[in-house]
Amino acid sequence: MKCPYCNHTELKVTDSRNAVEMNAIRRRRECLNCQRRFTTFETVELMVQVHKRDGRYEDFQQQKLTNGLEAACRHTRISRNQVHALVAKIMAELMELGVKEITTHDLGEMVMKHLQMLDSIAYIRYACVYKRFTDICELVEAIRSINPKDGIQTAI
Ligand SMILES: [Zn+2]
Repeated sequence: MKCPYCNHTELKVTDSRNAVEMNAIRRRRECLNCQRRFTTFETVELMVQVHKRDGRYEDFQQQKLTNGLEAACRHTRISRNQVHALVAKIMAELMELGVKEITTHDLGEMVMKHLQMLDSIAYIRYACVYKRFTDICELVEAIRSINPKDGIQTAI
């Protein structure tokens, strides 16, 4: 990293704080050459390996989690912004856990714990994908198609 004013490379960090909601660390830096100060945002890369059911590992992908949640939350009370906030929350939780790997199952449980509090339809849809409750999923969608205005609590 270089000073934006004089391109000097020796910098001092004067303040550092987590901005978990944007998956970034905000740092105040001071150039040791010209003494000017500036702020940087460094994106935190979540270095977690997801251990999949078939035994393979893959890097945790924020986009994949977002896609899964967006699919589960479609036509529910949960907004896109809430989905993104939820993704950030889950990533912050993973970061706090400090684990190097997590199983698909445990990741799914984490997500579902949050969804359960937000919306029951989204919760069940996510459970369908993660736990492969195909029958229940089809049942829920069938009930919803009969009476789309009702939530699952009132429909069952
Ligand atoms: Zn400088």
